[in-house]
Amino acid sequence: MTNLNGDFDKLCAELQRMVMEELALPDLISLRKTRMENNEGVKDYMEDRRRKLYEVFVKDVDKLKDLMERTGTVVSGSSALHLFQPKPNVLRLQDLDVYATEEFSQKVLNHFKDDEEYEVTNTVKWRRDYNSSAISRVHKLEKNGKLVDVIITNWASAIIPVLQYHSTIVMNYMTAHTFISLYPEWTKAGKSLVNPAVYMGEKSNLQTVLALMKYIRRGFYVSAEPFDMGIHNCDQSTYCPRTTRTTIDEGTPHWEFEVKNTVGKTVIVCNNMAVIEWCLRGEGCKDENEESVAAHIAIAA
Ligand SMILES: [Zn+2]
Repeated sequence: MTNLNGDFDKLCAELQRMVMEELALPDLISLRKTRMENNEGVKDYMEDRRRKLYEVFVKDVDKLKDLMERTGTVVSGSSALHLFQPKPNVLRLQDLDVYATEEFSQKVLNHFKDDEEYEVTNTVKWRRDYNSSAISRVHKLEKNGKLVDVIITNWASAIIPVLQYHSTIVMNYMTAHTFISLYPEWTKAGKSLVNPAVYMGEKSNLQTVLALMKYIRRGFYVSAEPFDMGIHNCDQSTYCPRTTRTTIDEGTPHWEFEVKNTVGKTVIVCNNMAVIEWCLRGEGCKDENEESVAAHIAIAA
């Protein structure tokens, strides 16, 4: 943690020992493998988990999914991670993070206000401590103690703020029909790399530290050193922060909740989500003196 101060390191080490709850993270990879062998069982299980998660917050799950499809809205953050927690934890879930683009912000807000009877308790304009330049504002909604944050980005894709998160453990999101994990192997192993953008830009602040502590407390291994997570081939591996990744590369499993349309045996995936390209960059890789792609996030297609 080169640019973070020693106190933070000490705090992390301290909290690492205070593991308060175990997360039952599923084996995303084996879920993917068993998809063919045990398609129906796993599919039903995943669909059931997703429905239960959404039912905590909305009366009409299908209408929410429909809204997500029409507007390219995604659910991310800890709520997406909760999809894979044991059932009691899903029930304890208190907030849902919904990401929408400026273009559809009113439509998404109206859905929660008019159809789901949420009230807007606050609208927070972009702040320094968001650590995300892609977030233009956050609408805070509430209904009977249930909290929904509608996070608006001025980029053309709702996924962009996800890539600016403090660490890889929360770089997961659900579209209308899929669950996508950008760092699945680490996530399933409970390991989380601190986003280099957090310390390279010296943007680390209390909010970020608190967010990281939340995951450390839950038993995640959080580090800013890529090789603490295990060995990888620099500039090639999905898990090298110097590698340029995309949301459709082979390291990014897309879990399809339901097959929508089929023509004969061909599945027609109606995917209107933009393809995002990114490179985390940062320090701690073997050849870090060699030139490589600069840290970036871009809409590729
Ligand atoms: Zn590397």
